[in-house]
Amino acid sequence: MVCTSVKEGLDCFFMSKEGCRFNGGTCHQIVEQCEGCQKVQEFPTGNYCLVFPDPAAKWRLGKCSMATHLKETNIKGNGKLNPLKASKRNFH
Ligand code: SF4
Repeated sequence: MVCTSVKEGLDCFFMSKEGCRFNGGTCHQIVEQCEGCQKVQEFPTGNYCLVFPDPAAKWRLGKCSMATHLKETNIKGNGKLNPLKASKRNFH
């Protein structure tokens, strides 16, 4: 249903005829770690995530899985260099 509270006009799974069914009865605003993410949208009521109703929960246990502003650091990080170094070591 289309949200009539904080994300007005956005189709949302949690919206019902009785109002928002999300925990607390409303979405929560983005947290500091979300800044720069493309999923952030500004509404007259504040800045909210288009995917998650409670962004703080997505960061509580590590990095948000849907964050668009972290991709570069993820690729540069542990992804490719370490396995290569490891395989070279195995040949010698
Ligand atoms: S997708 Fe994750 S990082 Fe991006 S705004 Fe939503 S909660 Fe924040």
